[in-house]
Amino acid sequence: METIKKETAKKSIFRKGERPVIIGGPCSVETKEQVLETARQLFRTGYVDIIRGGIWKPRTRPGTFEGVGAKGLPWMQEVKEVTGLPVTVEVAKASHVELCLEFGIDILWIGARTTVNPFAVQEIADALKGVDIPILVKNPINPDLALWKGAVERLQAVGLKDIGVIHRGFSNLGEKHYRNRPQWQIPLQFKIDMPDIPIICDPSHICGRRDILQEVSQKALDLDFDGLMVESHITPDDAWSDAKQQITPEVMKQMLVDLVLRRDKQDDGSVQSRLDLLRQDINHIDEEVLNLLSNRMKVVRDIGTYKKENNITILQKRRWKEILEKGKLFAGKHGLSEGFIVKYLQSIHDESINQQEEVMNQKE
Ligand code: PEP
Ligand code: MN
Repeated sequence: METIKKETAKKSIFRKGERPVIIGGPCSVETKEQVLETARQLFRTGYVDIIRGGIWKPRTRPGTFEGVGAKGLPWMQEVKEVTGLPVTVEVAKASHVELCLEFGIDILWIGARTTVNPFAVQEIADALKGVDIPILVKNPINPDLALWKGAVERLQAVGLKDIGVIHRGFSNLGEKHYRNRPQWQIPLQFKIDMPDIPIICDPSHICGRRDILQEVSQKALDLDFDGLMVESHITPDDAWSDAKQQITPEVMKQMLVDLVLRRDKQDDGSVQSRLDLLRQDINHIDEEVLNLLSNRMKVVRDIGTYKKENNITILQKRRWKEILEKGKLFAGKHGLSEGFIVKYLQSIHDESINQQEEVMNQKE
């Protein structure tokens, strides 16, 4: 990963300018030794700027490991002393905030299951009134952009200055490839709506597995995200939570080395995100056009069957002329060139004839 100079609008711990900010650390703080050794190794990679560690874990179902709780906070303090790097911990309520402030945690983050609840976000915001601390807001688990932006607005309203967001994907029943579908159009719209808020991608919770972390991280960088938050553990397979998606500091270093920074001056973030949004629109429209074409051909085949049963010829000149005239009229009204529409209709007509021939010559 090379370094590229980029002008920054505002100073933020989450927007480094020359290269993406990298947050690394275990999903959960498990033992003092585990978190300290992970942090030491991450520091030695030379790429990691902030160490993360979950102290209170918002688990979907009870009976699983719910975090070591407040006793892990002094361990995070030690991580900070040993590595000299700022540390970040997830908070879900006012008492978490108070404890983090008491133990000198540098940065807070709000988890996806908390962002969905405006009462909880407001409680955290109220506990931070008058406090100057950087904070990150993960997207809510459901794909609701307004809810995500609303959480940021609640924090802005109490005077917090350094607010960033984390894109960690959106839960979706039946999704197999990702643990949480990225739905990139949502963070991209966020970037357009709130350009001053740095945005970090959390490939670990999007992927839920190791083998696609690299491609999702690369995609985030290509979309000009400001950084990455990656879960890392000294022995990932033994992790007490999210074992499948964690990687060793060594693997994380290699992943970061292999990432390509494609930004340059002409290719600035807002242009890129705008382009991506418009391309998404094109993709949706193309999909609709293709679906409609496929429906059209189904009707064409039904007509073929009817013609066969009633011994009617495939090519009916009057009908074809009618379609062509209608198409030309449409082209004129909608700013499309007549030549293009004629070619387009011709091509569809040819395919329709082929399809009907196939139906009519089919042996019973
Ligand atoms: C986490 O970062 O460990 C976590 C619980 O993430 P999320 O809130 O995105 O599920
Ligand atoms: Mn996790």
